[in-house]
Amino acid sequence: MKYSNDTICVQGGYTPKNGEPREIPIIQSTTFKYDTSADMGKLFDLEANGYFYSRLQNPTCDMVAAKICEMEGGTAAMLTSSGQAANFYAIFNIANCGDHVVASSTIYGGTYNLFAVTMKKMGIDFTFVDPDCTPEELDAAFRPNTKALFGETIANPALTVLDIEMFADAAHRHGVPLIVDNTFATPVNCRPFEWGADIVTHSTTKYMDGHGSAVGGCIVDSGRFDWTAHADKFPGLTTPDESYHGVVYTERFGLGGAFITKCTAQLMRDFGSIQSPHSAYYLNLGLESLHVRMKRHCENGLAVAKYLQSDPRIAWVSFCKLPGDKYYERAEKYLPNGGCGVVSFGVKGGRKAAEAFMGHLKLAAIETHVADARTCCLHPASATHRQMNDAELEAAGVSPDLVRFSCGLEAAEDLIADIRQALDALDA
Ligand code: PLP
Repeated sequence: MKYSNDTICVQGGYTPKNGEPREIPIIQSTTFKYDTSADMGKLFDLEANGYFYSRLQNPTCDMVAAKICEMEGGTAAMLTSSGQAANFYAIFNIANCGDHVVASSTIYGGTYNLFAVTMKKMGIDFTFVDPDCTPEELDAAFRPNTKALFGETIANPALTVLDIEMFADAAHRHGVPLIVDNTFATPVNCRPFEWGADIVTHSTTKYMDGHGSAVGGCIVDSGRFDWTAHADKFPGLTTPDESYHGVVYTERFGLGGAFITKCTAQLMRDFGSIQSPHSAYYLNLGLESLHVRMKRHCENGLAVAKYLQSDPRIAWVSFCKLPGDKYYERAEKYLPNGGCGVVSFGVKGGRKAAEAFMGHLKLAAIETHVADARTCCLHPASATHRQMNDAELEAAGVSPDLVRFSCGLEAAEDLIADIRQALDALDA
C-alpha cells in the first residue's frame, strides 16, 4: 500500500511487530554479538545483512533513514552526523582527487566553504554557476572530469529556487548525477526525484528536527542514475573494491543500493561521521510532525513577507511564494504547496541598519540557526558568510544588508508586531 507523505512522516520507517515497542527503539549499543566468527565474516564481506559496529550502521539510525527515504521516494538512505557530512559524503563518494564538480553559486556558506576551500585542498575542483544561468551557460561549466552537479532546492540564505528539471537535464547530458540539497523545502514541499534529481541531501538539523535538538544529516539515493552506463566516470561503483574483497557495488547491490552501500562501507567506515541513535530518535520525533509544522512555517513566512513588502522602511523582500517575487513562477512549479518559512530582506540603511534592527527584535532571537520552531534571525554577511569577499557574497546572492528571518511556529501577528517595533526603535 502506498501512503501519502503525511502518513509516512508519522509512521514510516518502523512498523513494530506483535509486542514490540510502539516508539522507534533507541539501540544505544556500539556493537552487536554473533555466535560464530563465520557469521561475523559474512557481514564484513557484505555477504549478509546485519549490524556489527555502530560506526557503520545502527538500527535506530537506519529506521529513521528509511522514513526519510520513503518520504523522498528513494531506494536507499543513510543518516550522517551533520548536513555538512551529508554533502561531503555525497560528493566524495563519486569524485576523487583530480575530479571536478559544478555547483550553484547560491548555496549555504558552509557548503560553499567545504567545496571551494576544503575539498579543493583534496584536489577536487568546483565551478560555481549562477542558478539562473541558461542551459548553454550550464553546459559550458562541465569538463570531461566533471562527476556531479549540485544545487539547493531553496538556497540558504539567497532563497533562489533551483530549476531542478533544467539542472537534471544538463547533468544527464554530461553523464553525471544531479545532487540536490533539499533542506529548506523538505520532502513535504518538494520531492526533487520527481523532477529528475538523482541524489538528495539534507541538513536534518533544520526543519526535519525542527526544535533545535540535534545536529544531523541524511543522503537519499533515487536509484535511477545508471552508474554502469558511465562506468568510466564512476569506477568506484563499477569496478572491484579491494577494501571489500573485490565487491563491485553496482553488481552486488544494483542501481538502487550501490551508492548508499559504497558510501556506508567506505566513507562511514573510514571517516565515521555517524549520527548518534539518540539524535536519530529526536529527529524521528521531529519528522512525525514535519508535515503539520511546514504548513505553519510557510503561512507565517508568507504573512511576514507580505507585511515587510508593505512597510516603506524595508528596501526589498525575497520570499518565493510572494506574488511578484523573482522566483514565484518557479516556486509554483516545484513548490506548489509552499516553500519554507525563511524570508530574506534588506532594511533601508544597509548593513548597519540591518544589524541595529536585529538588536531591537524581542521574539526573534539572533542565532546561527534557521528552520526552527522558534523564530530566529541572522545577518549572514557578518556570520555564516563572513569568510566571503564582496564578489563572492554577490555571487552567493548575499547582499551586505540581507537579514535572514526564519519564521517559527508562533502567531504571525506577534512576529509582525516584533518586526514593526524593531523598525520603530530604529527610527527613534
Ligand atoms: N545545507 C543547507 C541548505 C544548510 O542550510 C545547512 C546549514 O545551515 C547545511 C547544509 C549544513 O548542515 P549542518 O549545519 O547540519 O551541518
